[in-house]
Amino acid sequence: MSEQAIEQQVTLPKYNLTPEQEKKLILRQYRALLKVLRPKFKKGDEELIRRAFEIAAEAHKTMRRKSGEPYILHPIAVAIICVEEIGLGVRSTICSLLHDTVEDTDVTIEDVEREFGGEIARIVDGLTKISNVIDTSTSQQAENFKKILLTLTDDPRVILIKLADRLHNMRTLDYMKREKQLKISSETIWVYAPLAHRMGLYNIKTELEDLSMKYLEPEGYREIAQKLSETKRERSRYINEFIKPLKEKLKKAGFNFDIYGRPKSIHSIWNKMKKKGVDFDEVYDLFAIRIIVYSSPEKEKEECWKVYSLITDEYLPSPERLRDWISNPKSNGYEALHTTVMGPQGKWVEVQIRTNRMNEIAEKGLAAHYKYKEGSADEDRFDKWFAQIREVISSQDTDSVDFLQDFKTSFLAEEIYVFTPKGDVKMLPVNSTALDFAFTIHSAIGSRCIGAKVNHKLVPISHKLRSGDQVEIITSNKQKPTEDWLKFVVTAKARAKIKDSLKEEKRNIAEDGKSILQRRLEHMNIAFNQQNIDELISFYKTPSQLDFFYNIAIKRNELKELKDAIVIGGKLEMPKLQKNVVEVKHETEYKHSSKKDSELIIFGESSDKIKYSLAKCCSPIPGDLVFGFVSTGKGLIIHRTNCPNAAQLMANYAPRIVKTKWAKNKEISFLTGVKIIGIDDVGVINKITNIISGELGINISALTIESGEGLFEGMIKVFVHDKEELEDLVNRLKQLNGIQEVQRLDDEDANFS
Ligand code: MN
Repeated sequence: MSEQAIEQQVTLPKYNLTPEQEKKLILRQYRALLKVLRPKFKKGDEELIRRAFEIAAEAHKTMRRKSGEPYILHPIAVAIICVEEIGLGVRSTICSLLHDTVEDTDVTIEDVEREFGGEIARIVDGLTKISNVIDTSTSQQAENFKKILLTLTDDPRVILIKLADRLHNMRTLDYMKREKQLKISSETIWVYAPLAHRMGLYNIKTELEDLSMKYLEPEGYREIAQKLSETKRERSRYINEFIKPLKEKLKKAGFNFDIYGRPKSIHSIWNKMKKKGVDFDEVYDLFAIRIIVYSSPEKEKEECWKVYSLITDEYLPSPERLRDWISNPKSNGYEALHTTVMGPQGKWVEVQIRTNRMNEIAEKGLAAHYKYKEGSADEDRFDKWFAQIREVISSQDTDSVDFLQDFKTSFLAEEIYVFTPKGDVKMLPVNSTALDFAFTIHSAIGSRCIGAKVNHKLVPISHKLRSGDQVEIITSNKQKPTEDWLKFVVTAKARAKIKDSLKEEKRNIAEDGKSILQRRLEHMNIAFNQQNIDELISFYKTPSQLDFFYNIAIKRNELKELKDAIVIGGKLEMPKLQKNVVEVKHETEYKHSSKKDSELIIFGESSDKIKYSLAKCCSPIPGDLVFGFVSTGKGLIIHRTNCPNAAQLMANYAPRIVKTKWAKNKEISFLTGVKIIGIDDVGVINKITNIISGELGINISALTIESGEGLFEGMIKVFVHDKEELEDLVNRLKQLNGIQEVQRLDDEDANFS
């Protein structure tokens, strides 16, 4: 489907209200806010809220949203999300109402402080500093993210309100231009959804993911949404059948509970389809059953396990799929028992068991956590997390994009639990190695780590840990970190410490280089001063003095050209001649095709004849939704908007993204690939090649077939003109007898060579 078609499909309601109606609408929304907030009012609160509303309404008076609505409806909506969906209170509501005033209007932080005091002014200030994220360019954006985290560690409400703000912007994203939609969605999937997850806001995380997917992957989104609604009745019937005996059992046992089936999100279904390479019909867990038990704090654990026992009396559990997050809560606070049992018709069904308290934490995350903080056995979980973040932020001087990546892998990933020999539990991100564990204990232990014993078996430092492992670190005083170590750590702390140590090492080595240079210059009677050193650094084009000295020490630079230098009045001058720079041209596989016209229209550029290449990671072909990425050195690279790297690129390098669209052109063909699985039968290859090159006249570039146990798996590389032609091919192949599956290869697999 073309991009234009997508734009046309969205029909937006025309905004058309009289000033009178508008006023009524604003008041109605304001009253809706008061209604959800009222239970939390203490004396004087209502007046404060009204004051904040009046200030905001007055300040935004002349502003409108892209939809044409009065701007004030946005802060009111954000406030309602904060109260209803996150569980925040009066002070956060005031901040939500004011969150865009300091940024966009004449209201100042001093005004806010005078009216509402220091606490609220600080939060609004935090929100103001990061509120510009949408419109700013990228590395600033990563910089902003760093700021978000710094404020977060002061007052988590800043990030909670920011998430509510982002959620409302995502809910109203239809009104934005396509490029903006792509950029904002990428940023959401890249940063905000994981952050919501990390804060324990599951519902918001899920909605952010689904909304991002709606814009980044419109076809996939619509397809799954449609299939979900088509199969809804059938699913409800099954859920009712599944629940019925459980309800009776739980009632008999005297539990006070809710039980219901909950559909999985479109994004998670889509992820599963992609990850496992299966069709919608083959995704078995389209829903999960949730049981909420109303329980008193001291009986929680016991009662959840009792419920588990009743369920597994009725349905057989899968032994590998029991997750006990009650004994070991996730670090975002999530607690529950998850099990997968075999339901009617032999279908696997996931069942989640939690108490009402656990459920509130699962839905409202951090805010609910604070509510229950007193009396919780594990009350400093978040504080610990914040402390970790603070430590990493303060020890890192890497650039912001790196920082963001490190942060994502180390703080936003799911975690595993491992045990020290004494039985203490340590939490680490997924894919952590023995070395990460060593650094978690102490940086001195990490730096001297030479190996580990995992479950009493000796393993190398790069060994990946799994939940439940017991780990003992082995150290040696002679050990020290090397460059290689960076390849197998994932935690930010380990990375930072290794980098520090490497830098220290480099500094020591550079000292030797400095002495070598000093001797060489003195030998030639040239002064060893900054001016002459600078001349050499600029001649050798080394990024820094440290690198220059280091290169000399390790003999990467032998200062050969120094003999041609001249000295004028003590000042060193290096020869002007420069080495010829040979430009390496990138030969692509697509060159062979006739090239009469540019295939792409690149918006925002003066000429449409721009050199471009097609990204290897997603091999786009005409008809795919694409964008251009201005790379350093390789010109414009075209990616599919659903490329696995797209979100990362768009979120981090927005100014280098250019909008691109395919022009109608049937002269150039593009290399792509399909995977075929079917029953191995004589002549099947013949039939396949007949269809491809015979009937459809498509050129085959390569073909590999592997067979075994009566099945075959084939990979075929073909040249097609566009997506339509490829889809045609896939459909024709699917109709062949004995063919089970035909799929486009859209990742690295497509470059099978
Ligand atoms: Mn806003």
